[in-house]
Amino acid sequence: MTSLEMSADVADKVASLAKRRGFVFPSSEIYGGAGATWDYGPLGVELKNNVKRAWWRAMVQLREDVVGLDAAILMHPRVWEASGHVENFIDLLVECASCKKRFRIDELPGGDALMDAWRDGTADLTTVACPSCGTKKLGAPRRFNLMFKTFVGPVEDTASVAWLRPETAQGIFVNFENVQQSSRRKLPFGIAQVGKSFRNEITPGNFIFRSREFEQMEMQYFTRPADAPRHFDEWLAVRRRWYADLGIPDELLRFREHAENERAHYAAKAIDVEFRFPFGWKELEGVHNRTDFDLKRHMEFSGKDLRYFDEPSGEKFIPYVVETAVGPDRTTYALLCAAYAEEPDKEGIRVVLRLHRDLAPYKVAVLPLSKNERLTPLAREVHGALRPHFMTTYDETQAIGRRYRRQDEIGTPLCVTVDFDSLEDRQVTIRDRDSMAQVRVPIAELVPALKERLGA
Ligand code: ATP
Repeated sequence: MTSLEMSADVADKVASLAKRRGFVFPSSEIYGGAGATWDYGPLGVELKNNVKRAWWRAMVQLREDVVGLDAAILMHPRVWEASGHVENFIDLLVECASCKKRFRIDELPGGDALMDAWRDGTADLTTVACPSCGTKKLGAPRRFNLMFKTFVGPVEDTASVAWLRPETAQGIFVNFENVQQSSRRKLPFGIAQVGKSFRNEITPGNFIFRSREFEQMEMQYFTRPADAPRHFDEWLAVRRRWYADLGIPDELLRFREHAENERAHYAAKAIDVEFRFPFGWKELEGVHNRTDFDLKRHMEFSGKDLRYFDEPSGEKFIPYVVETAVGPDRTTYALLCAAYAEEPDKEGIRVVLRLHRDLAPYKVAVLPLSKNERLTPLAREVHGALRPHFMTTYDETQAIGRRYRRQDEIGTPLCVTVDFDSLEDRQVTIRDRDSMAQVRVPIAELVPALKERLGA
């Protein structure tokens, strides 16, 4: 099976590999888990950090027109009134009176039509069978706000209410003027941020696809209103290239425009980047034209003038915003699914994670041919010499074939093998994960040889 022929059981295989090899664990597992929150293990933290680094490099480092920000999670509560989240960030929750299971209305059979009917005030759920127990006893939809509420300070009264941010974008909007003035930016320019967001999802699931605590990588690009459609198309192309550069095949991605009734309250245009997960096409990223909605609302609610002063024309106006919003957790999951491959080989089946070399948790594994007291010192010496240059690992237990397979399974692009000849000729073997080709190189030339292969 190649990664393109992704069968439904790839989701289970990836989840099991992720647990077994230390990519992702259920949070608080010894207490039975903590409801759709996940912990990234030694390999997962490397992979997700590499995803975030690749995004930052493409979106900030390589761009003259984008700068970074790291805003606080806890913000003034008025922010979420201004943004519309207190009023609009809701799911419609339906409970079955018979089995007590809860569903989002849009997830029920015919969910889109039910949503439309709810908006028109004509939703009739008495004819809809519960997807779990089959009875027709679904209750009326209830509005359920997805924001987690907490309290700042020692008194739990309304004056001290705070929300855990459900998106990172608002930290960017409220800092628009700070960033623009301190970095002396002229339109168009963007502000990028990576950080945690929280949503009390009614039906989390599909492993790390939808969890209650997750991260977002968002970029808000401030432009003249008339230029927003052009920048929207440009950013879409930039984002398409990013996925291609990370090795996600075209066939596993699609760009789907939202219908008018599907768009968030702030968006004039929205296109989802969707990935073909083993359980169907699902959103990885949203590209939105948010117009001047957010800055305008923050002007109203804060009383501060957030208009941009355009020197050449002497005009003051509220910029439009084109945003790209993607989750590193979902991206990590998509990359694992796209990379997972099983190939027949002489020992049975070889499982390979064909992760892009920039994303692989370890770039190089150092493996002595066998656990032998003559080989260990040289193998340790080689490992020590590589460590400052690459994320590396060292493994000397079990047969060499088994150890290659272990590295293939976690996506390590290159293995370096130290054998008995190495003791004489100071040469080692580099073995490639994908082609399994082996070449012998002098230890003195190992770092540049690995760098060349890793494109580093
Ligand atoms: P969905 O429709 O799947 O709930 P959304 O349209 O609400 O997603 P946005 O608000 O546009 O999502 O957030 C941008 C990105 O943040 C999403 O494309 C996704 O990658 C990520 N994201 C949103 N909610 C979650 C979640 N509960 N768990 C993991 N990632 C998430």
